[in-house]
Amino acid sequence: MVARTKIKIDYSKCGYEEGVNVDPRECRKCLNTCDPAVFLMHPTLEDHPDPFNPEKWKITAVWPSMCTGCMRCVEVCPEGAIEVKPGRSLLSMLLPGL
Ligand code: SF4
Ligand code: SF4
Repeated sequence: MVARTKIKIDYSKCGYEEGVNVDPRECRKCLNTCDPAVFLMHPTLEDHPDPFNPEKWKITAVWPSMCTGCMRCVEVCPEGAIEVKPGRSLLSMLLPGL
């Protein structure tokens, strides 16, 4: 059985962890290139999120089941922060041969 598609974002490369200063709101390349809209940019889930603080924003792959495995997000990410392991996806099940 084919494993499900897995997508990981390395927040030590995209975000404000460990001295890295990459504001995903200024980049957005993964969001702009992904046709099935797998990614979501959102404030971190805290009790008191501050949407005006750039350190509180992150990218999450919320719909990996919609990923076509095109790898465009991996190619356009200037920080090399995205890892995609293509596998079984909703689109490939609905549209075999995609
Ligand atoms: S591999 Fe393609 S479809 Fe999948 S998340 Fe990246 S850009 Fe979107
Ligand atoms: S393309 Fe890479 S650096 Fe840019 S917002 Fe997406 S994950 Fe972050």
